[in-house]
Amino acid sequence: AKERGRNRWELHRPAPSDPNVDRLRALGELRRGIGEGALRVHYQPRIDLHTGRPSGVEALVRWQHPTRGLLPPSEFISMAEESGLVRPLGAWVLDETLKLAESLRRDSQAGAALEFAVNLSARQLNDPGLVSMVEGALRRTEMDPAMLLLEITETALMQDPTAALESLTALKNLGVGLAVDDFGTGYSSLTYLKKFPINELKIDRSFIMGLGSDTGDSAIVGSCIGLAHAVGIRAVAEGVETEGQVEALQTMGCDLAQGYLFARPLPEQRLREWLSANA
Ligand code: C2E
Ligand code: CA
Ligand code: CA
Ligand code: CA
Repeated sequence: AKERGRNRWELHRPAPSDPNVDRLRALGELRRGIGEGALRVHYQPRIDLHTGRPSGVEALVRWQHPTRGLLPPSEFISMAEESGLVRPLGAWVLDETLKLAESLRRDSQAGAALEFAVNLSARQLNDPGLVSMVEGALRRTEMDPAMLLLEITETALMQDPTAALESLTALKNLGVGLAVDDFGTGYSSLTYLKKFPINELKIDRSFIMGLGSDTGDSAIVGSCIGLAHAVGIRAVAEGVETEGQVEALQTMGCDLAQGYLFARPLPEQRLREWLSANA
């Protein structure tokens, strides 16, 4: 009886979870998901702090997983990045965003004035095919390239600043705008900031959180805004959640803001509704 018990236990023992197998399975699911149209783009409005009006949107990708629901990028972007899947993923997000941009442009004059920000990963920045991918996506629309803004994190830029400068210059030559994302979390030198052909600094949410309560954070945000203006570019605050933060940012002359206070990232239809209500 003892023998049989052990055998039965062995039969019902769950398969050991091998992290490599799990990772391969997840990667296969993501690859299939991309092919089968399981990715979604949500759009978070950006507000012009000088006028109080929406000035554009940032595209943020999600994955509609067959069993786990709608997954945020933190659940799959690093895997996409490591495997190289971030290239087809990024190309799809850009296409999708430009399609929306075209459609909103035809809808109204207000729609035609909106800017569209899309995130690029470090791997995409180093991809020799990046410029022709962006060029091709722009060619398929009749959009003014200046209405497209590509966001690259400070950390990605500083991995190899010389190579980054080359990629940024080539992108700039297409006429698109460039933003340094999560600014303040990396270690960029002023020399590079001055050299990079960028149009805006996006101050990381971690500093915006302490605005009004943490004097250190207020000082940091103030100097980021001052720095942006000193080199003639816009300052953008991300993760704005309170009226107090908006007031502090306006006092400091910050140009644009994004955050749950104004709107969460929204699926296309809800974005359209939000835009009509807030035009
Ligand atoms: P990010 O570019 O810094 O985007 C801002 C993140 O902050 C978004 O998270 C957004 O939903 C969230 N957020 C916005 N306002 C608030 C707020 O008021 N409070 C709080 N707590 N959070 C706020 P999300 O959508 O989960 O995206 C996370 C990151 O994933 C992004 O950070 C970006 O680095 C990356 N990502 C998103 N979409 C793409 C993409 O298409 N390609 C690439 N390469 N990366 C992407
Ligand atoms: Ca971003
Ligand atoms: Ca950011
Ligand atoms: Ca951030």
